[in-house]
Amino acid sequence: MEMDQLVALCRRRGFLFQSSEIYGGLSGFWDYGPLGVELKRNVREAWWHDMVTSHNELVPPPRAPGAYEMVGLDCSIIMHPQVWKCSGHYDLFCDLKVDCRESKGRYRYDQLVGVWASHHRYPNGRVFCAVEEGPDAEQESQKRAAWFFQKKMKLKGLGTIHGNLEKLTSVHDLSMVLAPHARELGSLTEPREFNLMFETYTGAVRNEESKAFLRPETAQGIFVNFKNVVDSTRVKIPFGIAQIGKSFRNEITPRNFTFRSREFEQMEIEFFCHPGNSPAWYEYWRDRRYRWYVELGLSGERLRLRDHDPEELSHYSGGTADVEYAFPFLAEGEFGELEGVAHRGDFDLRSHMEGKLVREGDDFALEKDAQGNPCHRGSGKDLTYLNQETKERYTPHVIEPSAGADRATLAFLCEAYREDEQPDEKGKLQKRVFLRLHPRLAPVKAAVFPLVKKDGMPEVAREIYGQLKRHFNTFYDEKGAVGRRYRRQDEAGTPYCITVDGQTLQDGTVTIRDRDTLAQWRVKKEECVEEIRGRLRA
Ligand code: ATP
Repeated sequence: MEMDQLVALCRRRGFLFQSSEIYGGLSGFWDYGPLGVELKRNVREAWWHDMVTSHNELVPPPRAPGAYEMVGLDCSIIMHPQVWKCSGHYDLFCDLKVDCRESKGRYRYDQLVGVWASHHRYPNGRVFCAVEEGPDAEQESQKRAAWFFQKKMKLKGLGTIHGNLEKLTSVHDLSMVLAPHARELGSLTEPREFNLMFETYTGAVRNEESKAFLRPETAQGIFVNFKNVVDSTRVKIPFGIAQIGKSFRNEITPRNFTFRSREFEQMEIEFFCHPGNSPAWYEYWRDRRYRWYVELGLSGERLRLRDHDPEELSHYSGGTADVEYAFPFLAEGEFGELEGVAHRGDFDLRSHMEGKLVREGDDFALEKDAQGNPCHRGSGKDLTYLNQETKERYTPHVIEPSAGADRATLAFLCEAYREDEQPDEKGKLQKRVFLRLHPRLAPVKAAVFPLVKKDGMPEVAREIYGQLKRHFNTFYDEKGAVGRRYRRQDEAGTPYCITVDGQTLQDGTVTIRDRDTLAQWRVKKEECVEEIRGRLRA
């Protein structure tokens, strides 16, 4: 499947629109349309149901080191600025970026790639033709080399390409670089830090004291509420706190549809456990979260669980794995992150007790300024945990499965997109586009049609629709040829269509059609609700 086909379907059928489209859109922001909002809601609800509300704390789940409790939270988006200073986001949450002085484009330093090229008539040596990462990057870069020598330098004959695609980060002299949209060499600035947090102000006065940030992750709201949850509920370690909510990052190069947006939704769990068995809990969560995507229909070969190499690990992490998906906009063999599962040790709770930490040997120590004062002071509150039975007091370790609701929704859409050929009413083969979404995720669970808009069929169909609507999101359609109505529902990913036809009026049965197999069977019209319910559960 080409990404363009999915983007077109999403727009045509109301899954996703560009934000503020009538004003030309705003880069990195997206709106979910009538079908998209239901799909994303189902993704979030499946996560919340499977992780939180259906979790039985009395019985250890399969492959878990023991039983555990789960509760939820919903924290504010704007928090005390000290939260971000102690967590490290304020100082460290930066990407290196390069600006193009000529085109005014801004790029992530680690996401520009290119090939080296030369020409026997060009006197100034090799040129690095930078382009943005992507499946066609090598070809694009070679095209830029041809443009540079032939059109810009007016040289005859082809240039020579040296070696394969390389990252811009391996280039030492930026004066030899042709930036992605530039006509001149050397228009890129040296890489600079770019803080990804959106700033805002609270209250009437705009100054340093009133400056605040839109949260770049939901996790910190959980850490700073750890004590509140322990004190106000009877949860005992091990337990997890889950949260779903919006996060904001001023990404330098938002792209690939909703994959890298500036406003997105996260689904995060902070799981608190005893340091002694945190490695076992880490393995449990890593595998549990991977299986969740498989259960909802992401296939084995496009989905993978990848353990980070030691040099890739964050400075606090005792182990990290990513659940990744081979999105169609990536080059062959490349995967994009859906979720990170990290063993974060006691880093976060300690940071909010003591203040911003830095690594010192195998441990962490408070970061101090030249005068020996803490760079960012913690809350000073005691966030340790007392085991009432053993009287042991300790700082819990944390396992963090951190998923993106938008990336998961996009992966489910990519995986679901199918095309086949099916005969129309006249028996002629026609291309059919359908979304093979897991029934739990499908925006609409069933559609009800009268075959024709007469002979009492609409009346019966409306009655069935009314019954179904009380239980599931159902769609009623009596307009146009029935084949066209089926095709619209296939594109929306509706798993079942129920048709009232001539036979219904005689024997009270209706036809049910399956989106994927196109199998049709008849059931009594009074049994539609049970039939659909049973099939959605299967
Ligand atoms: P990336 O390396 O792709 O920028 P990350 O490692 O910074 O991602 P995390 O901080 O681990 O991401 O965030 C957890 C999850 O939040 C990611 O796995 C992803 O699903 C989601 N996420 C992060 N940034 C974005 C974004 N800009 N747009 C959409 N989803 C995002």
